[in-house]
Amino acid sequence: MNAPADDTGRLALMLNELRLPTIGRLWPEFAKRSDKEGWQGSRLLSALFEHELAERDKRRTGRYRTESRLDPTKTLATFDFGLVPTVSKAHVTALATGDAWLEKGATILLFGPPGGGKSHLGSGIGHALIDAGYRVLFTRTSEIVQKLQLARQSLQLPWALTKLDRFDLVILDDLSYAKKDQAETSVLFELISERYERKSLLITANQPFSGWSDVFPDPGMTVAAIDRLVHHSTIFELNVESYRRRDASDKQKSRKRQLPAAEPQGATTMEA
Ligand code: ADP
Ligand code: MG
Repeated sequence: MNAPADDTGRLALMLNELRLPTIGRLWPEFAKRSDKEGWQGSRLLSALFEHELAERDKRRTGRYRTESRLDPTKTLATFDFGLVPTVSKAHVTALATGDAWLEKGATILLFGPPGGGKSHLGSGIGHALIDAGYRVLFTRTSEIVQKLQLARQSLQLPWALTKLDRFDLVILDDLSYAKKDQAETSVLFELISERYERKSLLITANQPFSGWSDVFPDPGMTVAAIDRLVHHSTIFELNVESYRRRDASDKQKSRKRQLPAAEPQGATTMEA
């Protein structure tokens, strides 16, 4: 049985008013099936609402993904754990569900030389947390420090820090590259203190703590920052050969294999 035309029109208006676009799109087909197969009213309703909720989740995840500024290609699925024996895939997978550590505002610290996969692993954890319904922001440390510094100049720093609270996790990529300038590093310190035990940070850095006197020029501030960061933290050391370098040298080797034996071997351009 088809719905009378005036019902159809009113339904479209009401569903629009209630912001239920998925039900608006699906109900005619579902209603037809329900009439044909004699569904109970409750079955029809729950089928429609389930679809609306699932779509809503999908749209929200999409919005979170966009606002996160994460590189869409750097996921845990594309991260080769086999190359980084110091990092347990099971441990990362457990952290990637969020839950307890995000609730207590704990920290993840990723250390290692350039090219070791810190940014990729951090991004992968970020993507997984978005899939689990959390909000994440990925930013280069120098960039966020600059923004917070501008906010401080216009007396908006507290507001800017509060705005970051909407993110369950802020990923500060490349801490070691934060500028040494005293005022800038003190906004970094304020960010760390503000989130301490409330909202999580994930930090990547080329140097472990011993090299952080370069990041925070005042030793007291360095100690205080490290103290807060390590209090509830998981530390991964990715002490592996640069993936970029390995990738480039693999390409070089395979190119050499392709060269005819007699040809003189000049310098090979490496693209990494
Ligand atoms: P880092 O941040 O430590 O300098 P990146 O995460 O930027 O290193 O890694 C450098 C490049 O190598 C990136 O393109 C990254 O995707 C890739 N890469 C590094 N480690 C891995 C890995 N274990 N599996 C897959 N790709 C990797
Ligand atoms: Mg990096």
